[in-house]
Amino acid sequence: MATPPPDPTPEAVARWFGSRFTRALDLAPLPAPALRFLSGPSLVCRTRLSFAGDSGSQTVDAWRLRFGEVFGPCKGGVRFHPGVDEANLTALAARILLKCAVNGLPHGGAAGGVAVDPRKLGAAGRVALARAYVTAYADLIGGDRDILSPDVGTDAGLMAVMSETLDALRRRFEPAAINGKPPGRGGVPGRHGATARGAFAVLDTLLENGTGPGPAALTGLTIAVQGFGAAGSTFAVEAARRGARIVAAADASACLHAAAGLPVDALVASKAGGRAFSTFDHPGVTVAARETVFTPQADWLVCAALGGAVDAPIAAALRCGLVVEIANGAVDDAGDAVLQTRGVTVVPDVVVNAGGITVSHFEWVVGRTGAPLTAEEVAARLDLRMRETARRLRETATAAGVPLTVAAQLLAIDRLHAALESRT
Ligand code: NAD
Repeated sequence: MATPPPDPTPEAVARWFGSRFTRALDLAPLPAPALRFLSGPSLVCRTRLSFAGDSGSQTVDAWRLRFGEVFGPCKGGVRFHPGVDEANLTALAARILLKCAVNGLPHGGAAGGVAVDPRKLGAAGRVALARAYVTAYADLIGGDRDILSPDVGTDAGLMAVMSETLDALRRRFEPAAINGKPPGRGGVPGRHGATARGAFAVLDTLLENGTGPGPAALTGLTIAVQGFGAAGSTFAVEAARRGARIVAAADASACLHAAAGLPVDALVASKAGGRAFSTFDHPGVTVAARETVFTPQADWLVCAALGGAVDAPIAAALRCGLVVEIANGAVDDAGDAVLQTRGVTVVPDVVVNAGGITVSHFEWVVGRTGAPLTAEEVAARLDLRMRETARRLRETATAAGVPLTVAAQLLAIDRLHAALESRT
């Protein structure tokens, strides 16, 4: 008789879920069958895709994978990026599972992508690739199976193309299968800006900002923002609108500094015109290396660029009291340890950046029910959910005496435990 495989260790699970998860597992252990379930993806489908690019036919590696089909149909992005591979997609899908667990969303984790530089394809090439991706994975995709959404290198326009392709293949409408579509094509209003809106709902609740029902004033607060794309720029605009001073903001090219506060609207206009921060010219604004975003004295640092931005040396040098992890995994494990020793609060990614996935979930509900939502309804529902999760996060952190980063994982483990209890 074959020997059964050894039970997976918490360390094996940490490969995909990270050290915050294993720290939480020490406090709230999961039984062996649950750990086994979490030790790797349930489905990995790798395909060689051929499509017609602008410069002729091209063949690329593509993936779709699922991790944790437990709360409901899996959900995950489609990434077009040269760095896409199976390991990083697996970690991405595991993070989506955690995010769904923490935020009470009825989905498992999924991720997919193509190892390609979309900027080199041209618009027609990107559309052809989006069609080829959906055609290849049509049997896996569906509102009750695996729901696609935009990620790095894909956008609302490509989601519309994917949705049309799937409908044509199925010979029926399947709006719940593809999220992140433009509002005129089955998407919900308010997806743009949902991540920043959700982040403010979380921050207001955690910090008990303000006393009334309206947005809390941030007068006098100073903020540095790393990454000025879709999420970072909308966060900065809202913060400035509430009276905060954005004293530093970085994109991939440079960091802009102004102790009196950057002209945020001018930055947004400059980015919309396709100009990098390194070329920004404005009275009172100085241009420096992008890493200098970590140096100013500021109340908050908002990380909205890439994962791993705050490592141990940067964590030791930061002069802020609170780090907002808009980028997934913005603070690495070593950075986490240093910030905890220094008493710097980290507001964890799986809660603070969940506004996007939450609104994406609303779109799935609209696709299934056919009952549309107004922008006001989307905003109100998002606010309610994010505030509720933030309240539970704060209570868990206080009760367990752990940082918010570990408390978030405790919330996820609690929900996973309940869902996986019956497994043997
Ligand atoms: P984006 O591509 O629109 O913007 C990324 C920004 O980061 C750009 O301004 C880029 O120039 C900048 N950047 C890249 N490398 C940098 C560096 N080393 N230093 C400083 N700036 C750098 O991406 P986005 O949609 O705004 O997402 C930002 C991050 O937030 C990503 O990690 C993403 O996974 C995460 N996130 C985004 C959303 C969302 O709704 N957009 C939701 C959840 C999580």
